[in-house]
Parts: sequence; structure tokens; C-alpha cells
Amino acid sequence: MKTFKVAVIPGDGIGPEVIEEGVKVMKKIAQLDGRMQFEFTYFPWGCEYYVEHGKMMADDGIEQLKSFDAIYLGAVGYPGVPDHISLWGLLLRIRKEFDQYVNIRPITLLNGAPCPIIGGSKETIDMLFIRENSEGEYAGAGDWLFKGKPEEVVLQTGVFSRKGTERIIRYAYEIAAESGKTLTSISKANALNYSMVFWDEVFEEVGNEYPNVSTYSYLVDAAAMYMIKDPARFEVVVTSNLFGDILTDIGAALAGGMGLAAGANINPERVYPSMFEPIHGSAPDIAGKGIANPLAALWSASQMFDFFGYEDIGEQLLVAIEKVLEEKTVLTPDLGGNSSTTEIGDRVVELVSALI
Ligand code: ATP
Ligand code: MG
Repeated sequence: MKTFKVAVIPGDGIGPEVIEEGVKVMKKIAQLDGRMQFEFTYFPWGCEYYVEHGKMMADDGIEQLKSFDAIYLGAVGYPGVPDHISLWGLLLRIRKEFDQYVNIRPITLLNGAPCPIIGGSKETIDMLFIRENSEGEYAGAGDWLFKGKPEEVVLQTGVFSRKGTERIIRYAYEIAAESGKTLTSISKANALNYSMVFWDEVFEEVGNEYPNVSTYSYLVDAAAMYMIKDPARFEVVVTSNLFGDILTDIGAALAGGMGLAAGANINPERVYPSMFEPIHGSAPDIAGKGIANPLAALWSASQMFDFFGYEDIGEQLLVAIEKVLEEKTVLTPDLGGNSSTTEIGDRVVELVSALI
């Protein structure tokens, strides 16, 4: 039996509520399946920790996390703590330090999930976003000159290295080649005349190594429009850090809302731990009420099973999530029901138990 060490950072707001369901489901699956077991270690980091200690995580936090096989993160964010502090102090720091340069966000409209567009179905909305996760517009490079003076200028530089651009594009080609799907690159070379011209060139160059992958290129504005108008044209999609962030929120809306949107931050070389998280925030408006939808957290747990090499289990967990949506008897308020976070977790446990 294989043991996986998972670092759990429940974080703030609804983070701990949804992560608890994820841990519950993972434990149950491990017990039923028998091939693996999990050792969960909790870290109390986040904005509450910040309020007390003036930092989002322990000084040696990265060192402490290094030896884990994966990180399971809830959400960080708190009214009163500026978003850029919580983001850079924990989430972006972990992504960067552990070179989690691939952000994978599945955007599949599961049967039974609500969709805001007419004709939306699992057949028409089934995309896999591969977002560059280590540099680009989120490189943190820039300057703030003449602060407060009339000539004040603020610079935010997008950084696109050859290494960083090639590796994310190659990763996406590999996924498309393996799955026999089309690959779409989304950029903006007409306006961003350095970074995105380079991105497009690299997309073409790397594409020469994958003659069997059909490719498309879109400007980000057109892509945003077509994601709503004709989402079926997108299968595997590769894009930059900022564009990926924005487009995957459109994707989240298409595929049932924030309560169903999952993401994985992958270090493909497996030198460092990868991190799995629901992409929603701490949602202070509903925190503490026990009504947060845990399905996004469970979907990211499914991605963790895939990552550990148990794709059969990942798939079964997703089937259970879909069943909950199809049954419509146990749903949280964001999906029109009146069940609690725990009741959803319990129902998923029952459903996976029947599958494994
Ligand atoms: P943060 O400041 O940490 O980003 P947020 O409130 O902006 O938190 P978002 O993820 O942006 O969180 O979510 C926006 C809104 O969507 C929330 O305020 C909440 O009402 C709803 N929401 C988000 N995630 C969930 C969930 N898992 N279940 C139910 N509702 C959710
Ligand atoms: Mg938010």
C-alpha cells in the first residue's frame, strides 16, 4: 500500500468547511480502495494567521511543505486584509517556490449542473484549460515611480521567458496529443507587440514537434466571446497567466458556478509538491453558515487522485459528483437546494462507496 503525505491548508472563510468534506471523501476512498492511504497534516495559515502574526504563513513554511506529496488548499482571503497580501503571501508564493508552472482547470458542464447559456451541455462545454502559472503578467515585475507626484508612472511588466513559455506550451501539446483533442492557443499579439508575438511564435515552433495535433489561435477578446457563443470549439486550451485567470472564471460560470470550479497547480517534474484547490475565494458572505458548496473542493481532490496515478478513482469521484448534480435531492443553495456542506459530502461518500 502506498502512503501519500498531504499538507492541508484549509485557509479562511469557507475554505475549512469545503476542505473538511474533501478530506472526508479522500479518507473514505482510500479505505475502500485499499491501494493507498493518506497522511494529512494541517497548517493553520491564511489571513487569520496574518492578523495574529503579520504574515500569511510561517517563515519556514515553504521548507515545511517541501517534503509533502501534495498540498490541499481551501481558500485565503479576509475582509480587511488586502487581496494582494493574501495572494502574494501564500498562494502565489507556493506556486512560485514550488515551480507549479502548470495550472489545470477542467471546464466541463457535468450533467445536472446549471448553465447560463442556451444549449449548454456536456457535449458543448468540455474544455481543459492549461494556464501558465509561473510568470507572464503575474511575474511581480514593475515599478512605481514618482509616487503621489503629478508625473507618477506605474509599470507592470509581463515576463515571458523562452523556458517558461516553451514548457507550458509543450505541456499543452502533450495533453492534446495524448487525448487526441484539438489545441487552442489564446493570446493578444495585435496589442501586446512583444510578449504575445513571442508567445505565438513559440506556439508555432513547438507545434512543429506535434504534426498530429490540430491547432487554433485566438485573440483573447474573441476567445471570451466564443466561449459564450460557441464553447464547443474549444477542447484543450493553453494561455498566459492573466488571460487564463480571467477566461477560467468565464468557464466557471459556464460550468455551474464557483462552487463547481476546481484547479490544480502542477510541478510536472515532481521535484516539489503540487497543489490542489477549489478556485473560489473565502466567500465571507456565506462563511460559517455551513452552506458552501464543497463540490469544487471534491473535484480538485479528484484531480489529486489523477496526479497520484489513480485515474480510475479520479474518474469515479467525478461520476459521484455528477450523480449528486443529476439527483438534485442534496444540493447547496448556490445550486438551488437547501442542503448543507456536510450533507453534500456525506452523499458523495455514499455514492463513491457504491462505485468502488
Ligand atoms: P475572496 O476575497 O477570498 O476572493 P470572494 O468572496 O471574492 O472571496 P469568490 O470565489 O470570488 O469569493 O466568490 C464570489 C461569491 O461566489 C462568494 O461571495 C459566494 O457568494 C459565491 N461562492 C463562491 N464559492 C462558493 C461555494 N463554494 N459555494 C457557494 N457559493 C460560493
Ligand atoms: Mg474573489
